[in-house]
Amino acid sequence: MTLSWGVKVPKEDAERVHKILLKRKIIDISLRTLRDEKYVYFPVVAPIVIENTELVRMNFPKKNMLNPKDKIRHELLKRVPKEIVEIVPEYWEVIGDAVIIKLPEDAEKYKKAIGESFAIALGKKDVYLDKGVEGELRKPRFELIYGTGGPTIHKENKVLYKLDPARIMFSSGNIDERIRMSRLNITDEIIVDMFAGIGYFSLQIAVHCNPRLIYAIEKNPEAFEYLKENILLNNVNDTVIPILGDNRNVSPEGIADRVIMGYLHKTHKFLRRALEILKPEGGIIHYHDLVHNYGGIGEAKRRALNILENAGYRMSVLSSRYVKSYSPNVWHVVLDLKVEQE
Ligand code: SAM
Repeated sequence: MTLSWGVKVPKEDAERVHKILLKRKIIDISLRTLRDEKYVYFPVVAPIVIENTELVRMNFPKKNMLNPKDKIRHELLKRVPKEIVEIVPEYWEVIGDAVIIKLPEDAEKYKKAIGESFAIALGKKDVYLDKGVEGELRKPRFELIYGTGGPTIHKENKVLYKLDPARIMFSSGNIDERIRMSRLNITDEIIVDMFAGIGYFSLQIAVHCNPRLIYAIEKNPEAFEYLKENILLNNVNDTVIPILGDNRNVSPEGIADRVIMGYLHKTHKFLRRALEILKPEGGIIHYHDLVHNYGGIGEAKRRALNILENAGYRMSVLSSRYVKSYSPNVWHVVLDLKVEQE
């Protein structure tokens, strides 16, 4: 039971009053409405005066709310003005024990109370305000608005990723591509992941695809530390070899059946390097790129073909996919390319 404000109304007038309370969005949806032989008692989140009713303080039984959105709304209504509750987006991301939200400017001054509401409603430790990513290493600009912050462990498709969401990017928009990588039929292959990050693709392949070896290359020392931890966390240290450094300098050469190029900043400039990493006869390249406007996937094909042909390779496109919308009119795409020496 929960002590709360209640609106007591004679049964015959209950329907009219219920409509008013719904319109004002003031009913406490986490609590049950009560009735006796003469009156109906509506639980409300704040005192309200309506003609022919009485405001009471009483105990109401809690509803077992299953819907997270309702739970969040309920917690918000306790902490911030209703007009602010209405503009809090009904979208959030969860990375391990952290919640990531975006807020319109008018709601920012309530960010601490809003953060607390999301944390309590979703049973999470930290809440971050997402302010976008920046720089070549795509560092997330997250502001901790609730909790103590720090590393968390996120589980996706049976793979564990340890990271600090405030310092290392984790793109939930890439989930389909990570799962697609986990379903490749690449048993016993040697793979080089040129932009491994914390092991986004490498770990999916190591856990699910039984490759012979994966060289995971990462130049950001902080991401590299998590990469090493995540290899141990997923018990794939006999398959994944982490290498710290710029893939243009530290990649093994002439050994790969398959190269993953999961990067989105002038990726084509790394294509020749990918050819050096592949076995001399060629192999498969998962080539990620940015194209303008949906339908621009040909832009990526032409870019790749131009470089590969100039390098003396034939290219065939085994598959091409839109991974996610990257920014207005810009799409993240991936081409599975089969390349062979002329
Ligand atoms: N491939 C993963 C994905 O798509 O989710 C990770 C993408 S993440 C945005 C790109 C990673 O590549 C970052 O961790 C960045 O530090 C790393 N990186 C960028 N340039 C690199 C280079 N020349 N050599 C090795 N790593 C690089």
